[in-house]
Amino acid sequence: MRVKFINIYIENMRKINLIVIHCSATRCDRCYTEHDLTTDHIRRGFGEAGYHYYIRRNGDIKTLRPVEKAGAHVRGYNANSIGVCYEGGLDEHGKPADTRTPFQKHSLRVLVKLLLRDYPGSRVCGHRDLSPDRNHDGEIEPEEWVKQCPCFDAAEILSEAVPEMPGYR
Ligand SMILES: [Zn+2]
Repeated sequence: MRVKFINIYIENMRKINLIVIHCSATRCDRCYTEHDLTTDHIRRGFGEAGYHYYIRRNGDIKTLRPVEKAGAHVRGYNANSIGVCYEGGLDEHGKPADTRTPFQKHSLRVLVKLLLRDYPGSRVCGHRDLSPDRNHDGEIEPEEWVKQCPCFDAAEILSEAVPEMPGYR
């Protein structure tokens, strides 16, 4: 029975070769919880949050959508990707900025490393690095704010300097 279950799981599992990083495009001095995000995405007609993972400013990693299920976060690439979003991306004046806290940097690093272990060889990139709807699959992304998202070079996540341990300040 167990083997059968695993087979079904593997057959149903989609192919993943892309990890896309996003920001919530909310101000770094404002609180935008996973519940706010989910509510906003349901309002936009996605049924649930479009991203698979959400990283709060305190570094908490929230799972918002099962990885087996395609997300709704990047037009044209949802079928084979995982969407990771961090809380922030706008400074106190509402301007696009890398607002990741040290906790978020740590969590992002850990999460990306784990995902690469589960889906080896996957490309890691930012939303802004992908041109919209290239394969014309008609998927709509939850945010129109693509140009800057996620406000830093996501390809550098694993090569950038390990941030200072935030708990030891
Ligand atoms: Zn995005």
